[in-house]
Amino acid sequence: MAYRPQVVSTEIVSKNQSNDIFQVIAQLEDRNSCRLTFNGDLETGTPKATHISRMLKEPCPICRKDYLCNCFTRYIEPISAQVLQQLKK
Ligand SMILES: [Zn+2]
Repeated sequence: MAYRPQVVSTEIVSKNQSNDIFQVIAQLEDRNSCRLTFNGDLETGTPKATHISRMLKEPCPICRKDYLCNCFTRYIEPISAQVLQQLKK
């Protein structure tokens, strides 16, 4: 079954005013969380997610590893779209 990430909360954790790069921590419904790096201005455009990494609090919901893996990279689009939706609320 395909993994369906559900973002429940988001928090901007760092922002670089000079180059429009910001980082967000997203909490997922399954208790996982991940850090996303975005490039772009949230107020005037649609920032693009350039990087995603899982925080190592819970085993990966996709491959079940409890150490670093790259599974979330495949879900950068649905997760970042939900993050942006929440940030614009
Ligand atoms: Zn994994």
